[in-house]
Amino acid sequence: MTHPQPSLPRSAHPGAFGRATGAFERAIGRLDAAAGYTSLHPEVIERLKVPKAVLNVSIPVRMDNGELRIFEGYRVHHSDLRGPGKGGLRFHPQANLDEIKSLAFWMTCKCALLDLPFGGAKGGIIVDPKLLSPMELERLSREFIVRLGSFIGPETDIPAPDVYTNPRIMGWMMDEYSRLAGRRTPAVITGKPLGFGGSRGRNSATGRGGYLLIQELARQRGWNPAETSVAIQGFGNAGQSIARLLHADGYRIVAVSDSRGGIHREEGFDAPSLIHSKNESNRLDAVYCQASVCEAVEAKRISNDELLELEVDILIPAAMEDVITGANAAKVRAGTIVELANGPIDDEADRILAEKGILVVPDILANAGGVTVSYFEWVQNRSGDYWSEEEIFRRLEIRMKEQFAQVQKIAQDHDITLRIAAYVLALRRIAETVEALGTSRYFTKSTL
Ligand code: NAD
Repeated sequence: MTHPQPSLPRSAHPGAFGRATGAFERAIGRLDAAAGYTSLHPEVIERLKVPKAVLNVSIPVRMDNGELRIFEGYRVHHSDLRGPGKGGLRFHPQANLDEIKSLAFWMTCKCALLDLPFGGAKGGIIVDPKLLSPMELERLSREFIVRLGSFIGPETDIPAPDVYTNPRIMGWMMDEYSRLAGRRTPAVITGKPLGFGGSRGRNSATGRGGYLLIQELARQRGWNPAETSVAIQGFGNAGQSIARLLHADGYRIVAVSDSRGGIHREEGFDAPSLIHSKNESNRLDAVYCQASVCEAVEAKRISNDELLELEVDILIPAAMEDVITGANAAKVRAGTIVELANGPIDDEADRILAEKGILVVPDILANAGGVTVSYFEWVQNRSGDYWSEEEIFRRLEIRMKEQFAQVQKIAQDHDITLRIAAYVLALRRIAETVEALGTSRYFTKSTL
């Protein structure tokens, strides 16, 4: 059932910087679809349509050969309604402000959906980190923190790893921030190495979160892991950790890919061997490893596009945005898609997949394990009390499965997709804060 909506207030600053354009506009468009399924003051949506603050910096770095190069970086605070900004930093040659704004908006929704006391933020640098030496990468990471300055902080905005950033980079960044602040400040960044106050379980948390939802679906639908085939696009942090967990449960990982292409084998791969060889050689080879000796196994080379079109039970996009679009959605033959990547399916594809009856577990839920354990890391850094891995996994499982159950219930009650239901739940939580501040409903009634 839909609720009548009061008319939208006139924007205070039409055309203000950061107004929706391109990818960001499409991202926030999803709010309108969700708003019809819950009673919401229009100011809730209005507040989410413009990011709170956008920082664009130039980052000068002295390269190993003596040359100076200037890199461009961004940090976007989308919303701090529910708490400090939270979201990753990506190093990617195609990073751009429009994309970072969308990712920051998704973080606002994801943190609300998981009921974490955070708003949403995201950042990135336009760089191909594979072309930098380790020392250039360290200088770039540290200089970025100098440029971000007070835009980040344990109570204002807490970055984390994302595409092509990792715990070591987070460690350098925390170290630089602490140097500038004049005191050790571990809570400024999450996803750090354990030696820098990182949390147990953080590195595999994004994959584990998605895995827990698959476990829940398997229980509900009676899936037998040995008969369930899985294809994974993107074999980095998120893709590798879900592959390891699914493989351990007996699922058949039949295809994986990275930025250079993929491999396919109907009998399935030994996930730990693939991970070992990818991390040793930086190449995705079809192998079986015993101790450190890896032998090649037969597999077909496939492209990333072909991987998305395989007939599999579960497809896991775990790389970049917009890989399933109106152009290829009709060719997708997976039974279920679990979005570990942020924004891998565009709106047109979403409609086509829904018509085909393909179940999509949406990104803001499926990949929320990462930010949830980041929250645990932040709590541990602030309290000085560090938890065991079992404790982290126990808390993660409770939170993921609780929110999944609520999203499934909203989807069933309204006969809507899990994606729209996830936004409905996130919006309801954000609305509580907006209502507490007071909307026009409060300020226009006489208080005398
Ligand atoms: P990563 O850098 O560890 O791995 C990225 C992987 O994707 C690599 O294997 C890379 O080769 C591959 N890749 C890059 N471009 C590709 C392309 N065009 N086609 C196929 N593969 C490609 O990054 P990650 O942290 O695993 O992040 C992957 C996705 O998960 C991103 O969308 C990210 O926003 C999302 N995510 C990550 C986290 C986290 O905690 N790391 C949390 C939530 C969401």
